[in-house]
Amino acid sequence: MTKELYPIGEAPPLGVVPPKMHAWLIRPERFGEPMKAFAQEVIDVPDIAEDEVLVYVMAAGVNYNNVWAGLGIPVNVIAARNKAGEREDFHIGGSDASGIVYKVGRQVKNVKVGDHVVAHCGSWQKDCPMVRKGKDPMYDNSFRIWGYETNYGSFAQFTKVQDHQLVPKPAHLSWEAAAAYMLVGATSYRMLTGWAPNNVKEDDVVLVWGGAGGIGCMAIQIARAFGAKPIAVVSDASKVDYCMKLGAIGCINRNDFDHWGMLPHWKDQAAYGQWLKGARGFGAAIWEILGEKRGVDIVFEHPGETTIPTSILVCETGGMVTICAGTTGFNATLDLRYHWMRQKRLQGSHFANDEQARGLNDLVMAGKVDPCLSRTFTYNQLPDAHQLMYENKHPSGNMSVLIGATEMESGKTA
Ligand code: NAP
Repeated sequence: MTKELYPIGEAPPLGVVPPKMHAWLIRPERFGEPMKAFAQEVIDVPDIAEDEVLVYVMAAGVNYNNVWAGLGIPVNVIAARNKAGEREDFHIGGSDASGIVYKVGRQVKNVKVGDHVVAHCGSWQKDCPMVRKGKDPMYDNSFRIWGYETNYGSFAQFTKVQDHQLVPKPAHLSWEAAAAYMLVGATSYRMLTGWAPNNVKEDDVVLVWGGAGGIGCMAIQIARAFGAKPIAVVSDASKVDYCMKLGAIGCINRNDFDHWGMLPHWKDQAAYGQWLKGARGFGAAIWEILGEKRGVDIVFEHPGETTIPTSILVCETGGMVTICAGTTGFNATLDLRYHWMRQKRLQGSHFANDEQARGLNDLVMAGKVDPCLSRTFTYNQLPDAHQLMYENKHPSGNMSVLIGATEMESGKTA
C-alpha cells in the first residue's frame, strides 16, 4: 500500500507517487539569509502536465540563484509568479538535479519510469514563437530558469520538469556529482561554443576569470576539450594548482594588479594612463604564459564592472568577450576607439538550450569534463550550503546536497 509520506532517504517503490513529500521551502515572511529563509515542510506532490516528468530527486546542486530567491532580491520570485497567475505562496528552489523518473505525462517520449537522469534548468513553452520559427528558445519570452523562476525545483523529494530538460545520468558518476555540473557546465558551454564564428577552436587562447569558481572550472575543461589554451585568473596562489590540474596552461593572480574598476574617462589623461599601465601589465602576464605576443581569442567574463575594461583590452582583433553575469557591478566601460578599429565583440550569454546542455553532458559522459564536486551536504544541511555561498566561504568547484540518496559517493553504478 502506498504511504501518505515517505521519510527522507526511503524511496517509494519505483513509479509509486505518494500524495505528500518533504521539501525545503522559501516563504516571503522568511526572506533573508539562507539560514533563515529555508525551512523544512511537508507539502503535496505537484501534478504534472502532458509534456512534463516527475523525477524522484536523489541529489540537488547548489547555485547562487537560490541565495537570491531566499533574500527576495533583486526579484521576489514568489510575487512574480503570483502576478503571472500561479497560486502557490512558496518557492521550492533547486536548479540542478540527478534522480529517477517516477511518472511521465502522456506526450512524453524521451524518458520512461525508472530512467536515471540529470535535469538542465532551461524551461520554455513548447509552442512558443521562437520554437515555432525554429529559433533558439533561449530568446523566447517564456524562457524561465527551472527551480528559480519556476516553482517545484530540486530541493524536495519530487521535482517537476519539462521532458526536454532531461539528459541521461553519466553512469560513472555518483548521484551527488551528477547533480553538480549541469547549470554551470551548460552555461559555460554556450558561452564558449554558441557564438560562431567566435566559437572555441583548437589553439585558441581563452582567458577564464574565476578559474577555480563554479563556471570557471567548467570553462577551463571545456576549452581544453576543444584543444584550446585556457589561462585562468585567480585571487590566491592556493587556487593555481587546482586550475592547472583542470587543464589551464597558466594562471594569473589578479591581486598582483590594482587597476580594477571602471575605465577612467578618456579626457582624464593621467588616470587613463595609469589604468592603461596596469591593464598592459596584465596583458604582458598573458604573453609570458603563452611565450609569444598574442591576444586572447575568447575572454570568459562574469565579474563584470571591475574587469571588463581589461577583458576588452586583452581581447585579440576580431576576438570576443562573452559574459553571463556582472558579479561586481553592471556598468561595462570600454574605449570605443579600440573596439571598432580592432573589431572586437562583446557578447551577452545566458544559460543554454537543449542542444548545448546535451553537448556538455556528452563531454561529461566521455570523461572530458569532471563535475568538480567539492563538497556534499546532507538534506538537513541544505541551508548551510547556501549560507557558505552567501558568505563567499564556499570551496572551489561545485557543491551538492543529498535528497533521496543517503550515502555520499552513492550511485556510481547507476
Ligand atoms: P563562484 O563559484 O562564486 O565563482 C566566481 C569567481 O569569480 C570566484 O571564484 C572568484 O575567483 C571570481 N571573482 C570574485 N570577485 C572577483 C573580482 N572582483 N574580480 C575578478 N574575479 C572575481 O560563482 P560561479 O558559480 O562561478 O558564478 C559566477 C557568476 O556567474 C555569478 O554571478 C553567477 O550568478 C553567474 N552565473 C550566470 C549564469 C547565467 O546563465 N547567466 C549561470 C551560472 C552562473 P578569484 O577570487 O579566485 O578570482
